[in-house]
Amino acid sequence: ALPICLVKIQLARLCSRLKMLAHVLKTVTTQSALVSKTSCRAASTISSVKGRQIIDSRGNPTVEVDITTSDGLFRASCPSGASTGIYEAAELRDGGSLYMGKGVMGAVNHVNSTIAPALIGKDPTDQEGIDALMNELDGSANKGNLGANAILGASLAVSKAGAGAKKIPLFMHYADLAGNSLDEYTLPVPCFNVINGGEHAGNKLAFQEFFVIPTGAESFSEAMSMGCEVFHNLKAVIKGKFGGDATLIGDEGGFAPPCDVDSGLAMCMEAIDRAGYLDKFTLGLDVASSEFKVAGENKYDLDFKSETKDPSLMMTGDELMDFYAKMCDKYPIVTIEDPFDQDDWANWSSFCGKIGDKVQIVGDDLTVTNPTKIVRAVEENAANCLLLKVNQIGSISESIAAVKMSKQNGWGVMTSHRSGETEDSYIADLAVGLCTGQIKTGAPCRGERTAKYNQLLRIEEEVGSKGVYAGAGFRTTAWMG
Ligand code: PEP
Ligand code: MG
Repeated sequence: ALPICLVKIQLARLCSRLKMLAHVLKTVTTQSALVSKTSCRAASTISSVKGRQIIDSRGNPTVEVDITTSDGLFRASCPSGASTGIYEAAELRDGGSLYMGKGVMGAVNHVNSTIAPALIGKDPTDQEGIDALMNELDGSANKGNLGANAILGASLAVSKAGAGAKKIPLFMHYADLAGNSLDEYTLPVPCFNVINGGEHAGNKLAFQEFFVIPTGAESFSEAMSMGCEVFHNLKAVIKGKFGGDATLIGDEGGFAPPCDVDSGLAMCMEAIDRAGYLDKFTLGLDVASSEFKVAGENKYDLDFKSETKDPSLMMTGDELMDFYAKMCDKYPIVTIEDPFDQDDWANWSSFCGKIGDKVQIVGDDLTVTNPTKIVRAVEENAANCLLLKVNQIGSISESIAAVKMSKQNGWGVMTSHRSGETEDSYIADLAVGLCTGQIKTGAPCRGERTAKYNQLLRIEEEVGSKGVYAGAGFRTTAWMG
């Protein structure tokens, strides 16, 4: 018989060999998934689909969907906007008095009684096939029968199950679905929305979002640390100017001070300066102007939240354009979203023609992540960047088509959250997988916003040397086939 100490040594050696073997197997699996697309093939089918009603970041109901396959349970949930474009896919709400009429039990029932039986037995890697099938079941032009929130919840959960079937991370699955490289990844520039106005805050500020953008950072993680430092400095700037009450936050985690556009931008610059990053940040705006276009008139009411109107804040399209030009001369603004109303095509084209080389013009309500709208905007040179919001079109494969069309026409693409969000972080994976180069998901504040930024930190760690931070080249990241 062997002495006990020798048995222990043999056991320890065996253990360490097994650990090495496991490590080698894990490395081989990961590498082959990275290198060979042909290895990305599933042998998995959907065995159950379950929808439920959960609550979003504004206290409104939203749809969550669980999909089960032999690889496990995959869960996704839908966001919801406040300044929604009128041409977005239809989000189904129940009406009545429960949850102020905002219940989504109708959409949930469509997931459980119509979508679930159709998806059971399907291959979750067939994203296009499944999304097309759901559109067929819906049978309307805007997903108005089943609800874009029912279809999107299922589409998102399918995409996670697809990644699970391929045994690769979600961002890699999105890259694979889009035909992007699995060997190099672009980490997006985070556009931190640090001042909230418009429909997202109770202040009088008309413009909805003020971005500080760390275009001069070296990496995504450095961009995050710089963004957080600017955010804290901005809090001090606002407190010094307006007192502590003005540092309360809006729907997307940014501050909601009683400032106007010019002084909001000035405070952002002061915060950047105090943080010591004057040469490393640029600025951006989401005007969300469809919210304050005066119906039937060529006028924009920048005092739309006041009961007593300031006449100097009622502007024609031309006056608003001059105002933007003045702000762009005064501050390092590199991107402006929704500068004009969703139907004011003439002013969009005129503005983009004048300033579009220097400043990115982003279509949100104008283009609603919809290829038909994007074609028109390209033809009329109305914008040069797509705001990618998956719930505007209502499925992953149609979102990928919208991104491809935008990139093929030389546009930038900014991945976006909605003002009503959940803890789901799939847009971080989407931004990397589709190589959009830009993301906006609020301030570095509030869990539903940081969930996305934190997922990007994890992805950056995971891709290591295969990842590059978009930085100043955020408008022209890799072309997609
Ligand atoms: C936006 O307008 O870009 C936005 C994120 O807001 P909402 O989700 O309210 O449309
Ligand atoms: Mg917008």
